Amino acid sequence: MAKSAGIHHITAIAGEPKRHVAFYSRALGLRFVKRTVNFDDPGTWHLYFGDEVGSPGSALTFFLWENVPPGKHGAGEAQEIAFAIPEGSLEFWKKRLADKGVMAEEKTRLGETVLTFDDPDGHKLELVASKTASAIPGWGGGEVPAVHAIRGFHGITLELRHPERTARVLMEVFGFAPERSEGNRQRFLAKDGPLGRIVDLRTTPGLAHASQGIGTVHHVAFRAADDAAEMAMRERALKLGLQATEQVERLYFRSVYFREPGGILFEIATDQPGFTLDEPKEKLGSKIALPPWYESRRAEIEAALPPLE
Ligand code: ZN
Repeated sequence: MAKSAGIHHITAIAGEPKRHVAFYSRALGLRFVKRTVNFDDPGTWHLYFGDEVGSPGSALTFFLWENVPPGKHGAGEAQEIAFAIPEGSLEFWKKRLADKGVMAEEKTRLGETVLTFDDPDGHKLELVASKTASAIPGWGGGEVPAVHAIRGFHGITLELRHPERTARVLMEVFGFAPERSEGNRQRFLAKDGPLGRIVDLRTTPGLAHASQGIGTVHHVAFRAADDAAEMAMRERALKLGLQATEQVERLYFRSVYFREPGGILFEIATDQPGFTLDEPKEKLGSKIALPPWYESRRAEIEAALPPLE
């Protein structure tokens, strides 16, 4: 069975563009790997942040929808986005976040040290000290030195009323295996990784249902090594009675979407071709990238987009 190597990308909804870009590219020091538009709505930005090339397992992407109301955290939601930092970098990050006026709280969870904080739109973020991250070189082209840089995703927490149904999807569609649990949290692990291998399922009794908007995650994409693996995962999703789309061309990857039984939108995304498709590695994110089918409308599209910096 073709298994997923974990999270490919996470896409979330953000509001005010300048504040948003400053937070992710400057304060968190992620590389701004792609500035493009929402392929389904080219009047709005779709921004990608990640490691040096936005590798699968590192790509955090945002729809900038200034005109939608703020979302509400709750059940049926992909909630905390956890990044992996090297084990020796906790003190650096505690100081950096404090210097930037970001309130962070330190916790121990499943034997790991976790710094939790919110982004300016209310997204719940975490930095997790990870041995795996220590072994991966960091990108030091931004404000954060390479030695302390965020390496990519540690994982994500899904808040669910009935986690067993989502667990079945993780195991049977993507090949995740159950790992440790603690309290109301059950951890699932993808076959390899190395980044973004973890999906935690959490149930908080009595929690109201989430509503989507600014400050909430839009969908979570899982890696497929190639088209054949993607189609195999799609078939398995259909067998579980889930309504999976046909394959959709996203230029930097090819995607299939379905809503898992807990209400969260899942995507299957191919590892190839990646973000160097239309820009060289050293120039990633430096200009507005448009898919070929919007090129003829470039002037009109660019003029309508709000400034980012
Ligand atoms: Zn996506």
